[in-house]
Amino acid sequence: MHSFVPDAYWRWRTEGLTRPALRDAGPAATPSEHLLQQVWRHQRLRREALRTLDGHPVTVLHPGFWNREAGPDFRAAVVQIGGQTATSGDVEIDLRPVAWHQHGHDRNPAYRNVCLHVVWQGNTSPTAELPTLTLENALDAPLDQIREWLGGDHCTAPPATQRGACAAPLGDLGEDAFADLLRQAALARLRLKAERFAARAREAGWEQSLWEGLFAALGYKHNAWPMRRLAELRTRVLAELEARPARAFELQARLLGLAGLLPDQLTHRRPATDTWLRAAWDVWWRWRETVAASVLPRTAWRFHGLRPANHPQRRLALAAHWLATPGWADRWETWLARDVPARDLLVSVASGLQSDPDPFWSRHYTLTSTPTPRPQPLLGPTRMTDLAVNVLLPWLWSRARSGDNARWQERVELRYLTWPAAEDNVVLRLARQRLLAGRTLPRPIRAAHQQGLLQIVRDFCEHSNSLCAECRFPGLLRSAVA
Ligand code: SF4
Repeated sequence: MHSFVPDAYWRWRTEGLTRPALRDAGPAATPSEHLLQQVWRHQRLRREALRTLDGHPVTVLHPGFWNREAGPDFRAAVVQIGGQTATSGDVEIDLRPVAWHQHGHDRNPAYRNVCLHVVWQGNTSPTAELPTLTLENALDAPLDQIREWLGGDHCTAPPATQRGACAAPLGDLGEDAFADLLRQAALARLRLKAERFAARAREAGWEQSLWEGLFAALGYKHNAWPMRRLAELRTRVLAELEARPARAFELQARLLGLAGLLPDQLTHRRPATDTWLRAAWDVWWRWRETVAASVLPRTAWRFHGLRPANHPQRRLALAAHWLATPGWADRWETWLARDVPARDLLVSVASGLQSDPDPFWSRHYTLTSTPTPRPQPLLGPTRMTDLAVNVLLPWLWSRARSGDNARWQERVELRYLTWPAAEDNVVLRLARQRLLAGRTLPRPIRAAHQQGLLQIVRDFCEHSNSLCAECRFPGLLRSAVA
């Protein structure tokens, strides 16, 4: 039997991935362009404090999709600059404004659609027309912390499907050592998510950081950013409603209106939907003037390939129920204090996450869908596990850590490590092919095993290539068990 020394995985990722060989030349305080791209991609920024060089506030409704081909670094971002209408366009990241000309972007038609030049530092925009944003003083944590959080400066394309160089040493590990490795990697992931909550809490407070995490998770893959933006507007959504318990319906109307997802036409085919829409517009039109400048454009949302149950309209309907419940965010510390056996974890979290039955949304996935024959809960078990593992537990751990409460940290870790497995996904399938080459995860499979595997991919595969070039993971494994 073999186990790794405690914290072995954490040391591998922090000592290994930020080693000088992986940094671009230059002082440690200067990021590489790769790192700057990752900062933008994950929005590790004080988002309320962003201003262009000429002083206009910048609101990022969607940072865009990271482009690993030729052309601008991020495609189809949605940003609002000053009081103007939100613009959809590309974002180019450089270290300094002068790179715009040095790299020939000004002469390259592929860059015609760039709406924002994001740089590390500088004083003047490369052209009068192109808004420029500097990040040097806008990070949400010191650069070295963010670099460590990201696992280094370099992050490359997802790996190919061939068997990885670590498959053999991983296959040689005994069951206990394998489980211990995944446990350590999963705890590293918990800690990294918690650090993100702590960074946001420093700016906006603990409750706000929780709401933003929840909304982003409800946005699932492509709609995390517009959902997060709506959470940032939470106090405005609740304004004037705080004096009385806000009705979920009013909040649904406000959130959907603010999201730009409230249709302005009746269906004339579905009486229940039309009744709902009329009532929602009755709420929304009275309020919209006060928030007109903050309404999200349709371009901020992605609907392609979306399952109806994950549609943002339905997710916002659920979030409105949460917001309408006084003290909803406080219930999670009480939940943590209760002893819950592993087999009951999902049921126990469901009692906090499920809403009261909603007369309209329990039978409609969206505002255009036909009614379902039977009522459907607003949240299924799969999404509950995602919310618990990615938001609630990291947030609780982060709070416990900020209060130096080791006992509560351990309590969170125990819950995290025993949480039932989440739904499979494409990254996990790829990881099993490459890293495990047929070896199964320890039984019974827990969400933490999956989280650990995902963290190894994030820390090592994403910093290497399909041939595992320069990946230290196989060597670290061999030396740890030698
Ligand atoms: S890049 Fe590293 S961690 Fe990923 S499959 Fe290759 S050897 Fe394994």
